[in-house]
Amino acid sequence: MPRFVTHLEGAIDGAKLPADCLQTLHQDRPIWVRYDLDAVRLAVKRDDLDMRPETMWRYRELLPYFADDEIVSLGERMSPLLACQRLGAQLGTENLWIKDESHLPTGSFKSRGMALAITMARRFGVRRVALPTAGNAGGAAAAYAARAGLECFVFMPHDTPVVNQCECALAGAKTFLVNGLINDCGRIVREGKEQMGWFDLSTLKEPYRIEGKKTMGLELAEQCGWQLPDVILYPTGGGTGLIGMWKAFAELRELGWLQSDRLPRMVAVQSSGCAPIVRAFEAGERFAPPFPKAATVASGIRVPVAVGDFMILDAVRQSGGTAIAVDERRLREWMRLAVSLEGIPVCPEAAACVGALAELRQTGWILPQERVVIFNTGAAQKYVEAIQTDLPQLDIHQPLDWRRIEAGG
Ligand SMILES: *Cc1c(COP(=O)(O)O)cnc(C)c1O
Repeated sequence: MPRFVTHLEGAIDGAKLPADCLQTLHQDRPIWVRYDLDAVRLAVKRDDLDMRPETMWRYRELLPYFADDEIVSLGERMSPLLACQRLGAQLGTENLWIKDESHLPTGSFKSRGMALAITMARRFGVRRVALPTAGNAGGAAAAYAARAGLECFVFMPHDTPVVNQCECALAGAKTFLVNGLINDCGRIVREGKEQMGWFDLSTLKEPYRIEGKKTMGLELAEQCGWQLPDVILYPTGGGTGLIGMWKAFAELRELGWLQSDRLPRMVAVQSSGCAPIVRAFEAGERFAPPFPKAATVASGIRVPVAVGDFMILDAVRQSGGTAIAVDERRLREWMRLAVSLEGIPVCPEAAACVGALAELRQTGWILPQERVVIFNTGAAQKYVEAIQTDLPQLDIHQPLDWRRIEAGG
């Protein structure tokens, strides 16, 4: 396998950094991985992909360098892109798809980033990792660390969904509930670095989680026959998914693999309970001040400050997209709507995108025929607290009441 990575690059100032060693932040801001795309173009044709296994590793030339036996994998299969006519009709769109990331290991797209980050960390000699998490990143990190034989420390807000708490502990991570938000957890990881000797796996504080998330964009392009959709709605927390996809599209365009140079309009969707990126977008700012009293059941997007704020905002603006906050109180309703119409386990974060689509159709920002993709970033089943319902009970000693059964309760 030839090496296509040329160097790393500081996102804030474009500084060139070496790629063959462990990197974290540069000037306290994230780092890009850069490739020799001319060499990639010569080495692989897009049709060559047809012959490869249907996993995220099929895009090897567009990922950092590692040997085959260094890959830490739990079987990251391509996620399905599902046409959603019934939900689309309800929302007034004729061409709606959901890319269902709930199929990935540990039930969320976080596995894409962690598979790469853990692969690279171990390759560079890391033995011990730590991270703050809103939930799913912790679950994925714990699983991949276990798979790689690394020690893992996870810090999460005390009210993180219980499934996330359990999955981390079950995978053997030293897991702590913190009486604060994810940024408070982040401070613990930062302050413990010297004393505890751990590598910080926080969102965007190492260069490779973005590269893993990038595969969502590569896959989407391939599944769409290299003709990207008009609009992508993405539930935005730390922003790696949106930033990673935008990077994927830029690289594909430069490779000449896309049918058209027009890229999708990227929509960063947040909840009214935590909308720092939307506020900064609306204010015309490049950086987003912390969002006070962040609260949402969509725990994955409960991120009051993002170290990659300017990268999210740059991507949204370059794409001609927008940022929109939807009503926190309606997330459960949109979740029920989507799951009951399509059977796809739409998580509360993706439910926010359902609400955003309804609103953007109403205002005419999205037209009826435009091709729209919503990312279902995680599995609804992980949010037991949000989906709990009181079911009607049947008493086997009583005669059955068919009218009550017909009515469902
Ligand atoms: C982490 C997470 C998000 C936010 O992802 P970013 O790419 O970091 O913005 C959205 N949804 C779910 C389910 C998540 O776990």
